[in-house]
Amino acid sequence: YNVPKAFNEPVKSYAPGTKEREQVLAAFKEMYNSTVDVPLYIGSEEIRTGDTKTINPPFDHKKVVGHYHQAEKQHVAQAIEAALKAKTQWAAMAWEHRASIFLKAAELLAGPYRAKINAATMIGQAKTVHQAEIDSACEFIDFLRFNVEFMTKIYAEQPVSSEGIWNRMEHRPLEGFIYAITPFNFTAISGNLPSAPALMGNVVVWKPSATQMLSAGVIMEVFKEAGLPAGVINMVSGNSAMISEVLIGSRDFAGVHFTGSTGVFNDIWAKIGQNISKYKTYPRIVGETGGKDFVLAHPSSIPAQVATALSRGAFEYQGQKCSAASRAYIPKSIWPQVKELLLADMASMKMGSPEDMSNFVSAVITESSFDKLAAFIDAAKNANDAEVIAGGNYDKSVGYFIEPTVILTDNPKYDTMCTELFGPVLTIHVYEDAKWEETLKLVDETSPYALTGAIFSQDRYAIEQATKALENSAGNFYINDKPTGAVVGQQPFGGARASGTNDKAGSILNLLRWVSPRTIKETF
Ligand code: GLU
Repeated sequence: YNVPKAFNEPVKSYAPGTKEREQVLAAFKEMYNSTVDVPLYIGSEEIRTGDTKTINPPFDHKKVVGHYHQAEKQHVAQAIEAALKAKTQWAAMAWEHRASIFLKAAELLAGPYRAKINAATMIGQAKTVHQAEIDSACEFIDFLRFNVEFMTKIYAEQPVSSEGIWNRMEHRPLEGFIYAITPFNFTAISGNLPSAPALMGNVVVWKPSATQMLSAGVIMEVFKEAGLPAGVINMVSGNSAMISEVLIGSRDFAGVHFTGSTGVFNDIWAKIGQNISKYKTYPRIVGETGGKDFVLAHPSSIPAQVATALSRGAFEYQGQKCSAASRAYIPKSIWPQVKELLLADMASMKMGSPEDMSNFVSAVITESSFDKLAAFIDAAKNANDAEVIAGGNYDKSVGYFIEPTVILTDNPKYDTMCTELFGPVLTIHVYEDAKWEETLKLVDETSPYALTGAIFSQDRYAIEQATKALENSAGNFYINDKPTGAVVGQQPFGGARASGTNDKAGSILNLLRWVSPRTIKETF
């Protein structure tokens, strides 16, 4: 199949004096000083129900930068109808035309929409410009480009034929519609979860997170401008339980593409189970959920490498990545050096609005997240078996600011070594060097999750030992690197256990879930 060769979009620097910096700051200012109105997108219509909620920047929560409209039950039903109506023509369309639409969307994001979608991600989700750039520009573009290439590999997969017999396989979309549920923390994931099934010929009803509505609106603008026909991707927002009730309760529900918390995914799975006899077809259930991602250093590791992995892995985007380093195991012999370097690095981390590009971190996403994190920090301050050794301050008067915080504990099963926090709080356990093998066991047994993990060592035997001992502990396993920042096409992303169905976003494996092939045997 002849398609443009996929490549990873180069990351722009936004250094002082660059035109990208000027453009993104201009887009930021414009968006910050206006109020957008994000409608529901159903079929060819933009619906404004009048039942609105405000959009507030997490780092300046009294400020209103827009509103989004919430759906009633009837709108969700309408979205199903619009999707099914679009289905016949969309599924029948030659794949080159579907591919062209999403490749065009990639070019719009790389060029004319880059500043706008980055600004929306900076304001709405409190990302620094670099974190926005690697997400809403580069990763989103990468998903769109690579998925087209993966699609052609799927289509090329054909059975063998023999004399007088022609066997072939048609990689058809699923019968019905796909429900995409997306999180606040990656604009790229919000773009990929509806567009990957759509590329394969499916129609989609998409519910973005209530805390991502600013960039969600921009995503719909981009898809529309790229020429996506009405009804292929419909966007509804509002009460999640009601929306899920209607969509999962529909006879035409054919699958869910989910990223979010383990608890919500479990509820969705249960709801699908309750409705199972109703459906035309067994639905595909694809989900990426939580993580309690580890950094494990061996005594042979290089302290500076470990310290950098901890500060970047734990605190970039305020630790709000499913992949964030949140529990670390450091041997006693190198701990003094790791500690010194980590604390020095943290001392230089400025916190504030993403508009000031010297800030390394900003606010956490919501007040409830702030309150939860503050409670964990307070508990550590008062605990007998833990202490706060860096950060620990918080203030929500202007934005939901939590200082990057390190908790040190003697107890490897201390609460914050086990519980997913989703914030800038790293817990470290220092182990006796001689207890390396026990520590390997501990890393595996401490958490129900298995998303990402990183080990650091200069000793190949230790690396091999850890790779084997932790084979089920992380779907993305890093050797001498931080556990965040998987790149589409390079490190297919996802984990098993309580972290999801491990269908590897950014790989052919994910796209395979969105086809229902028909095998045709013809004899002559
Ligand atoms: N793919 C992202 C990374 O490798 C994490 C995605 C997520 O938070 O869900 O950092």
